[in-house]
Amino acid sequence: MKNIFIAGITGSIGTQAIDIIRAFNNSFQLAGFTFHSNVKSAEKIINEFNPEFIIATLESSFLSLKTKFPEKNIYFGINECTKIIENQHFDIVLNAIVGAAGLPVTYSTVKNQKRLALANKESLVTAGEIIMPYAKKCEIIPVDSEHSAIFQCIQGENNNNIKKLWLTASGGPFLNSKKDFKDILPEEALKHPNWDMGAKISIDSATMMNKGLEVIEAYHLFNVDYENIFITVHPESIIHSMVEFTDGSFKAQLGATNMKGPIQLSFTYPERFPMKTYDFDIFKISKLNLLKPDFKKFSCLNLAFNAGKNGTSHCIALNASNEAAVEAFLKKHISFNQIPVVIEKAIEKYGDIKYSSIEHIITEHKNIYNCVKDSII
Ligand code: NDP
Ligand code: MG
Repeated sequence: MKNIFIAGITGSIGTQAIDIIRAFNNSFQLAGFTFHSNVKSAEKIINEFNPEFIIATLESSFLSLKTKFPEKNIYFGINECTKIIENQHFDIVLNAIVGAAGLPVTYSTVKNQKRLALANKESLVTAGEIIMPYAKKCEIIPVDSEHSAIFQCIQGENNNNIKKLWLTASGGPFLNSKKDFKDILPEEALKHPNWDMGAKISIDSATMMNKGLEVIEAYHLFNVDYENIFITVHPESIIHSMVEFTDGSFKAQLGATNMKGPIQLSFTYPERFPMKTYDFDIFKISKLNLLKPDFKKFSCLNLAFNAGKNGTSHCIALNASNEAAVEAFLKKHISFNQIPVVIEKAIEKYGDIKYSSIEHIITEHKNIYNCVKDSII
């Protein structure tokens, strides 16, 4: 029986991870979790799984849950969470928190635990340089579908034989849209054609910043130069990503557009358990398109590639300002086409701060996020 701790259990990835635990309750048990605002879901999870470690990262949620379960040990705050990860044994920590708020979980896990199942891409975007050296001790199994695909494609291969990584991108809801980007509404941008995801990653997919963040994530996970990481638009989202080898051969990983595949693999690897939570009919696919991305229309792609090439400080400014811009767009404080403008300005202003530690990155990320947020309102 493997003990699983899930950070960000109430979100899209967290909820799907619970389905995997339910489907294999002889192999996995929920040992603990964090959540932020969704007290109702947290209550249900406690009643169903009775986990030992429960952490609310928002004070009002903590107080409300505490009155409902006075007999249980409920903790408050991300620092309590990192202490628990540092002092308890979990077989797997799944980090499914959204945004750079997930960085402390990634860091405490790679320092103290055996396996990190990583959905929270923002922690590698902002601190990949510091996190990755720990991967020799702690296994990092990517959950992001593209990186899970590449991880599967390179098993048994010699890294020197990798020529290029090809990240597939759905293109989001505006791939073929002729609509002026300034007129796009949050409710339109939230409607992803293939995936049902949290709000932030849905907007990131609409601007294609999600693919940009994934390029930086891939750079850190697989140690491949930016010049050799490519994006291809694949509207069907069946090919989850590909690796091109020096001998001209390509390996691709294909599957349903369902995150339960990569989540389950991150729990079972190196084993493969039967898929119990969805069916996939390969005959329903009639075409697999691979198209060139439009860097002009989706300028966030260029911003991310450039930030990656310019190093950690640019990536922190990119990520912090993107988080602030996406929130502002969702609240209708800025228009869709202003998202890349806000980010570009922030990189110019904050891109040269030097970082020496995770604590420093966390503090500065918050500062940049707050400054960008204040400058918008
Ligand atoms: P959601 O928004 O659906 O869920 C986010 C989770 O994080 C929730 O449990 C939420 O709690 C919690 N949370 C929100 N704010 C904070 C905070 N400030 N501090 C601590 N916890 C917080 O996101 P997704 O599940 O869609 O995405 C999670 C991560 O996985 C992201 O990094 C995303 O990029 C990545 N990912 C997601 C995919 C998907 O299909 N959804 C695919 C590939 C990667 P609560 O709900 O209680 O407020
Ligand atoms: Mg992805």
